[in-house]
Amino acid sequence: MKREFAVIGLGRFGGSICEELSVEGMKVLAIDINEHKINEYKNIASHAVIADSTDEQALKEIGIKNIDHVIVAIGDNIQASILTTVILADLGINKITVKAQNDYHEKILNKIGAHQVVHPERDMGRRLAHSLISSNILDYLELSEDYSMVEVMAGRKMIGKTLKEMDIRAKYGCNVVAIRRGKQMNVSPSADYTVQEDDILIVIGADKDITKFERQLIMDE
Ligand code: ATP
Repeated sequence: MKREFAVIGLGRFGGSICEELSVEGMKVLAIDINEHKINEYKNIASHAVIADSTDEQALKEIGIKNIDHVIVAIGDNIQASILTTVILADLGINKITVKAQNDYHEKILNKIGAHQVVHPERDMGRRLAHSLISSNILDYLELSEDYSMVEVMAGRKMIGKTLKEMDIRAKYGCNVVAIRRGKQMNVSPSADYTVQEDDILIVIGADKDITKFERQLIMDE
């Protein structure tokens, strides 16, 4: 069954969400206060409507209550983003995802009823910083305030050793949840798995433990 989405604010972020959801065959209602933006997206989204999302009546008339998941991608105008989120929460929308501009904005959004707050610039900055630290760190994803997931190329010190020998959980407090070798994905690898060159490990743990793991097993090659 097709799920229904609405994207409010068609800047670079909202616009790319709208495009990608449409490519994936989802029904997307695109909303923006700016007529040019609506003209740009009217052939991409299922529907595109000019509206000010801080106007509760306008949102009701569009039929926003029938939408499963609303993404608020209003950027610079933090006040409009907050007001829109309050209205959507009041209307009882099932799932509200909002783009935050900064940490204060994020805190407020969490308090007023956003179900998910994303912070793309900050998250991308962190991911890039991790990949800059070592070419072996391929990706980094923040799972919560204190936990992260990293995708790393097996360090030289790991090659030929089993997971048991390295004792990653006991020594570093991290869990190797999967290992990719070429096209093969080994989820929950057993303790006697021997790491080979070019293996890619997916590791989850507390930030401080991940840092220790990266420093001791992945970096200083
Ligand atoms: P990005 O980095 O994603 O491009 P941005 O910071 O440039 O985002 P803005 O241009 O501030 O984002 O806003 C994104 C879109 O939200 C714009 O197209 C703008 O017209 C729209 N927008 C702003 N306020 C409202 C509102 N009250 N109702 C509907 N759309 C709005």
